[in-house]
Amino acid sequence: MSRDTAIRGGILVTDKERRRADILCHDGRIAAIGADIDIPAAATVIDAGGCFVMPGGIDPHTHLELPMAGTRVADDFLSGTRAAVAGGTTTILDFVGPARGEPPLDALAAWREKAARSVIDYGFHMTVSWWGDLFERQMTTLVRDEGVTSFKFFLAYKGGLMLPDADILAAFERCRDLGALAQMHAENGEIIAFLQEKLRTKGILEPRGHVLSRPPYAEEEASVRAIALAEAAGVPLYIVHVSTAGAADAIARAQSRKARVFGETLPGFLSIDDRVYGSPDFDMAAGHVMSPPFRPAEHQRALWRAIEDGVLSVTATDHCCFTREQKRLGREDFTLIPNGCGGVGDRMEILWELGVASGRLTPEQFVALTSANAARIFNLWPAKGCLAVGADADIAILDPARGRTIRAADQIQNTDFSIWEGRRVSASIVHTLSRGRHLWADGELRADPGHGRYVARRPYGPAYGVNPHTGL
Ligand SMILES: [Zn+2]
Repeated sequence: MSRDTAIRGGILVTDKERRRADILCHDGRIAAIGADIDIPAAATVIDAGGCFVMPGGIDPHTHLELPMAGTRVADDFLSGTRAAVAGGTTTILDFVGPARGEPPLDALAAWREKAARSVIDYGFHMTVSWWGDLFERQMTTLVRDEGVTSFKFFLAYKGGLMLPDADILAAFERCRDLGALAQMHAENGEIIAFLQEKLRTKGILEPRGHVLSRPPYAEEEASVRAIALAEAAGVPLYIVHVSTAGAADAIARAQSRKARVFGETLPGFLSIDDRVYGSPDFDMAAGHVMSPPFRPAEHQRALWRAIEDGVLSVTATDHCCFTREQKRLGREDFTLIPNGCGGVGDRMEILWELGVASGRLTPEQFVALTSANAARIFNLWPAKGCLAVGADADIAILDPARGRTIRAADQIQNTDFSIWEGRRVSASIVHTLSRGRHLWADGELRADPGHGRYVARRPYGPAYGVNPHTGL
């Protein structure tokens, strides 16, 4: 079998430019790019006429095979990454979640084992699910030897993942010393627990209690606090799944005083509003239960402005799928509904539809938001997130004229629910290559378990060479 694949006739798009050129992939990397490159006779040729050829997507926020709420998310690393590749995503960063007291290195070993079946490349963030000497000691090994250079913290989930500010400051300082990036789930867990209790007393136990207990101000307060904690510790901060105008404003203010703060948002937050929780159909309302929740529609306009201004620079999915049956664990009490929605396979097409097809974003901005910025922030650049000779041949080909309708019945992610059920997108991903391997070919999935490789990431900071793109 030839190890060469050529992509001919398409329009190449990076985060900086767009041009007509062909690409030759050899041994998993991009070997040549140009208008008239030599294509070996034995090469497999993909005709990309009329299509955009882009860096494969990077989804830096997924949860596969995660135990949660007395169950386990519906997607394992095989089904989740198969869904991803069919939607043009070629790298995921998943969260390793140690149980309380579990050594993070043990949890990493468990995640490495689960992820061995991944069909696309993957890296890990570590959730700081508890704090103590052992955790602190093992962070050194994680950063220096294991390539885990980002750590996620929670200001939400009182009695669970939530850490007190003092522990967060200590851990943030450790991140700074090691050259690691801090990530935050920013919602005020005390306010949420307080409101949940009030709603319970009033007998509001149906899914709308979920959104009533997680008001926008709880996210805004926690975002402001997370930024202050990060500034105090001198660590760069990445706020995951920003869903409100107030949180986006907090990030914008921090950036304007040159604080190193990055913001991520989800295509779901740009396209779905909180009316879903009013549905009389439990499965419909519960299917949208995630944290933070979908917000009143006016927040979407603020999120778009923040994207246009570069305040929010990354899109992810927070892919965390459950079936209708699993969501019914919370039939009698909304606090027991497993939190999370899917979409790892839909992110690129939905964002194209909302952003590029509507005229809000250029294709270059689309690439920045779906791969290039994440590659830079998470130290995957320049192997990932760009189309350049020597880069990994992770490539997504999008046909702007081939639409499809999203239906749970057709999806690859392992659930019977889609937050975008029935939504029409005007463009679709027609081919995806992962390190030169043609895994998604015009509707045919050729993804073998285990093709994906673990990507160890470099630490940040002067000792390791400051990343010129982010200053980290
Ligand atoms: Zn998440």
